[in-house]
Amino acid sequence: MTRCIPVDPCAPALDALQEAAECLKSGGLVAFPTETVYGLGGNALDGRAVQRIFEAKGRPATDPLIVHLPAVEALPMVVKSIPDVVSTLAEHFWPGPLTLILPRGEKVPLSVTAGLDTVAVRVPSHPVAQALLRVSGLAIAAPSANRFGGVSPTTAGHVLRDLEGRIDMVLDGGATPIGVESTVLDISTAVPRILRPGGVSREALEAVLGPVDLLERKASQEEAQASPGLLEKHYAPHHARLILVEIPQNEGLQEAFAHLVTQAEQSGARVGALIADEDLAWLETQFPAMARLALGSLNDPGTVARNLYAGMRAMDEAGMDVILVRDFGTAGLGLAIRDRLYRAASQIVRHIAQNGA
Ligand code: AMP
Ligand code: MG
Repeated sequence: MTRCIPVDPCAPALDALQEAAECLKSGGLVAFPTETVYGLGGNALDGRAVQRIFEAKGRPATDPLIVHLPAVEALPMVVKSIPDVVSTLAEHFWPGPLTLILPRGEKVPLSVTAGLDTVAVRVPSHPVAQALLRVSGLAIAAPSANRFGGVSPTTAGHVLRDLEGRIDMVLDGGATPIGVESTVLDISTAVPRILRPGGVSREALEAVLGPVDLLERKASQEEAQASPGLLEKHYAPHHARLILVEIPQNEGLQEAFAHLVTQAEQSGARVGALIADEDLAWLETQFPAMARLALGSLNDPGTVARNLYAGMRAMDEAGMDVILVRDFGTAGLGLAIRDRLYRAASQIVRHIAQNGA
C-alpha cells in the first residue's frame, strides 16, 4: 500500500513531514513534489534504499540518480571537493532547478552514481521538498517518480498511477510549477556544458557564466526514420505514437497536420493534437472533431512546459493512437521542451513528403 498524504504546497504541516522523514530514515521510499516534477525519494547514503528506488522505477543501474540537498552548505555531505564556480552558481540558481555534476564524496554509494566518480547534486526550491530535506536532515536521492522510460509525473495522481504499491508514501502538494526536469550542468570542462536542458534556461546560465555549450543528444531525422530506436526513448507515452511536427511557418504546420491526419485516419488511428493557443482557431476550422489540447502560448514556453507532461498523459489515457505535437522553438524553456519531445517522439516531421507517402 502506498499512503497518499495531502500537504499545503506552500506551508506543509510538520506532522506529515515528520512521518515522511521517519519513513526515509528507516529505508523507505517517499514521493514528493519539487518545483520541476515529482521526485521518488530515498536516503542517498543508504545503499538498500537506493536499490529500492531502482527497483520501484524499473530503472537500469547504469542511469545515475540526482542527490537533493537543503542548501549549498550541505554539499560536503556528498561531494569530495567544491569547484570555485559553484558558489556563483548557487548564489544565482539555488535553490532551484539546476543540477551540478561534482566530484563524488566517499559516503555516496556507487549505486547512486552508476559507478561514476562524479555525483549529480541539486538544491530544490519547492517548499515541500525543502521542508522534507530539512526535517529529515538527509541527502535524498530522487529521480522522477514514474516507471522508467515513461512520462514524468507532475501531480500525485500521476505518481500513484505509475507507482501505487511500489513505494511507501506520496506527499500530495498539487501540480508542480515548472513541469520539466532540472537542467543538468557539467562544470568540469573549460566551457560549461548542459548535459540535459531543463528548468534553468541556457540564456539564464549564459548571463552568469558567459558561453555555455549544449550536449546534442538527438539523432538526425534521417537516422530516426531509418530506425526509431536510435532516438533515446524516454519520456514517452505508454500507448500512443507521438509525432513531432517541427515546421516553423504556420502555413506549413497546417499543411503538415492535414497530411498526417489523413495518413493516420486512413489506417484507422485515433489522432489527438497538442498545440499552442495560437493554433486553436485554424485547428477548429480545419479539424473540428479532432481531440486537442492547447498547452499555452508560443510566447510563453513556461506555461507550455508546465502543461506538457499532463497533456501527453491525458491524450494517452483518452485512447489516442497518434499524438501530433507542434514544435515550440528553443527560447527559454523551449529548449527543454524540444529535448523531451525529441525523446518521446516516434517520428519527427520537418517537411511534408512530396509523394504523399
Ligand atoms: P532523472 O533522475 O530521471 O531526472 O535523471 C537524472 C539524470 O541526470 C541522468 O539520467 C543523467 O543524465 C544525469 N546524471 C546524473 N548523474 C550524473 C553524473 N554523475 N554525470 C553525468 N550525468 C549525470
Ligand atoms: Mg526521469
